Amino acid sequence: MASDAPKTLHHFIGGKKVAGESNRFGDVFNPATGEVWARAPYASTHEVRRAVEAAKAAFPGWSGTPPAQRARILFRYRDLLETHKDELARIVSTEHGKTLDDAKGSVQRGAEVVEFACGIPQMLKGEHNENVAQNVDSHSLRQPLGVCAGITPFNFPAMVPMWMYPVALACGNTFVLKPSERDPSCSLRLAELAMEAGLPPGVLNVVIGDKEAVDALLQDPDVEAISFVGSTPIAEYVYKTGTSHGKRVQALGGAKNHMVVMPDADMEQTVDALMGSAYGSAGERCMAISVAVAVGDQTADELVNRLKPRVTALKIGAFDDEGVEMGPLVTEAHLGKVKGYVDHGVEEGADLVVDGRGLNLEGHENGYFIGGCLFDKVRPEMKIYKEEIFGPVLSVVRAKDYEEALHLVNEHEYGNGAAIFTRDGDAARDFTTRTKIGMIGVNVPIPVPAAYHSFGGWKRSLFGDHFMHGPEGVRFYTRLKTITSRWPSGIRAGADFSIPQTR
Ligand code: NAD
Repeated sequence: MASDAPKTLHHFIGGKKVAGESNRFGDVFNPATGEVWARAPYASTHEVRRAVEAAKAAFPGWSGTPPAQRARILFRYRDLLETHKDELARIVSTEHGKTLDDAKGSVQRGAEVVEFACGIPQMLKGEHNENVAQNVDSHSLRQPLGVCAGITPFNFPAMVPMWMYPVALACGNTFVLKPSERDPSCSLRLAELAMEAGLPPGVLNVVIGDKEAVDALLQDPDVEAISFVGSTPIAEYVYKTGTSHGKRVQALGGAKNHMVVMPDADMEQTVDALMGSAYGSAGERCMAISVAVAVGDQTADELVNRLKPRVTALKIGAFDDEGVEMGPLVTEAHLGKVKGYVDHGVEEGADLVVDGRGLNLEGHENGYFIGGCLFDKVRPEMKIYKEEIFGPVLSVVRAKDYEEALHLVNEHEYGNGAAIFTRDGDAARDFTTRTKIGMIGVNVPIPVPAAYHSFGGWKRSLFGDHFMHGPEGVRFYTRLKTITSRWPSGIRAGADFSIPQTR
């Protein structure tokens, strides 16, 4: 695969490319080759402030633009995303490592949020009542918050930023995006395309950076709201720090998604679903299935016997290799961490049925590759069960019955997604009712809600009260105002010293 010479990235502030001034840089790698493909500038507090100032200056004009005109720009943006889908996917794959098909799918899922945002004027409509008291009318409206910020993880460099800013902008806010410093180029290109669609300068800004940039956003008095997606410890930190500075915060964290496999499940369908959801994107998805809970030993034996040859035969390679099903992990450090978990699972006594640690991929010796790993007989007290691994490692846990499986799902600290595979409607209905989980799949392994629904988890997978995009996104990025007015003004109400009542 051809490699490009490292280039120096920039921030995007006030509609322009702005060179980094902090003199702090980080390398962005092509995970398939291990080569440095770009140098990313890490923003200082001062540079973040410039981006916030640009967003603040753009707010009066943008929030005063009629919602339908804002939506027209988003319509054009949606078309540009379609035209540039392949280009964006290639940027995602080059810095993240995921296959091109997978990257294209993630650009598409992000563009679907833009489609949803085009219809947001309809959702900004308030409610009106005539005559709540004699000659008194009341109406409510939703207004934008002001400058909002988004802080995003490495695993979906196109889709997760688009869970945030299209909704925020359609509601009339301006935005500062701080993408993951491990794969920031896609966010820069997304901002350029938004300008091409007609977005005024300063409405969408991108600063690249690390903790310093995040802390600057969390403490900036002109930032009204923070949307965060990333690991649970950082999500909790962002939520606590942001709210203590008076901001509205939604912080989505990590996951350990279980799939309960009932004895009556269609095994072929179940195994296909597990292959895609556990090993797709090398397991670097917050909605990846990382635990399969097989109900009964017979179910577990059949599941493991069917999975073993499939996991062993996974086609692993660079994102643009022919027929590739799984790419590398994002960085060398992450590869080391995932291998460390597999080592730990073996030490803890889990049964390693497929060991991907020794994978040697000819022509990609310096890439961050690991083969698919499959553990059987994993127990709830093991570290590989309790913690998020975020790699292509599937754990099979054996439960004696449905109640034990449900208990496992509910007792886990994370509550992002869960699925049940069964032909039994009673079991499926009970599962959807009793699970303490934000997103449930019934014979659907990765139940990511469509753009016009909302995405989010329960328990320690979400800090804050609002999910992302869909109706919850609109609620997060707007404030409700209720107006009570008396017309005609000529009628004298007289002084009333008791609480107003309808008479
Ligand atoms: P991460 O928490 O390391 O980083 C996320 C963001 O936080 C990045 O922009 C990063 O620069 C910033 N950050 C990192 N350390 C920080 C610190 N000490 N202080 C302030 N900011 C800091 O997460 P990641 O490794 O990029 O992404 C993987 C994680 O994201 C996984 O845990 C995955 O489950 C989670 N994730 C969750 C969802 C969801 O919807 N719940 C979606 C995608 C990813």
